[in-house]
Amino acid sequence: TDTKEWKDFDKLKLYMDDLESGLHYLLRVELATHKTLEGAQLKTFKDVVTVLAKLFPGSQPVMKLLETLQVWVVSFPLDKIPYDAVLDLLNNKMRISGLHLPSHIRWVSCQGSRPELRGYPCSFWELFHTLSVQAALQPKALLHTGLGDGAPVVLQTMRRYIQDFFGCRACAQHFEQMAKESLHLVETPDGAILWLWEKHNIVNARLAGDLSEDPKFPKLQWPTPEICPECHEEIKGLHTWNKAEVLRFLKHHYSPDNLVFASPE
Ligand code: FAD
Repeated sequence: TDTKEWKDFDKLKLYMDDLESGLHYLLRVELATHKTLEGAQLKTFKDVVTVLAKLFPGSQPVMKLLETLQVWVVSFPLDKIPYDAVLDLLNNKMRISGLHLPSHIRWVSCQGSRPELRGYPCSFWELFHTLSVQAALQPKALLHTGLGDGAPVVLQTMRRYIQDFFGCRACAQHFEQMAKESLHLVETPDGAILWLWEKHNIVNARLAGDLSEDPKFPKLQWPTPEICPECHEEIKGLHTWNKAEVLRFLKHHYSPDNLVFASPE
């Protein structure tokens, strides 16, 4: 990993460096711990690649790479894929056609004040929220993919990814517990965005003050009043969320329009 100087960033923006670094880590590091993809895990991998190919708000070369990967994975003739074949496709075969996913890590909004803090799990949340917002912005994107068209398709697919591959096993267990309790209640794409936001805040509350917390990035209920005053209300002295405003904020924050493509110096 690179140890670079601190990069200043805007809390109100989303950075492509974080999303691409997360994607790089997911495809080249996390998946690499599985030598062979088969059975239910292979199905999960195919579905995640499909969701990414249809909904990741990437640059053209990255989207072409994801689409090429999706066609290759979905039409793979055997019921097992050696991980090395995925890596060879990503690193060598696609390069020849000019398709490229950066193979370095460059955290911006996911920088940690120490190397073991933040980084990949932070980018995974950002990717997950972005995909949930993209699904609402492009309700037809997953039609004809065989993934079904119910509102929580993205949530269900990423839930399976977390369950099958996410490196932090305690995280996967906690997440699965929340999904079991209430994911079936999600009915609309907007409901899916809010479900994920709410669960992420439950995780934030649980982890506040934990050893894993970066002192420079305390675990707060998000969005804070500082970045979204209208998301917060007080009714009879009690704090409540204005969910219509939260939804509006999430749809803006995690939209392609809010993505910064250039790396900050
Ligand atoms: P993160 O929580 O990673 O958030 C990243 C960014 O998302 C924030 O900087 C902010 O911009 C934005 N954000 C914050 N809250 C919200 C919200 N509610 N809605 C939308 N956007 C928001 N770690 C554990 O130690 N135990 C666990 O059980 C655990 N479970 C996890 C489950 C999942 C599915 C994932 C992806 C991670 C989990 N983690 C867990 C890791 C943990 O949640 C953090 O990702 C990690 O500690 C890094 O924290 P962070 O400060 O970068 O902020």
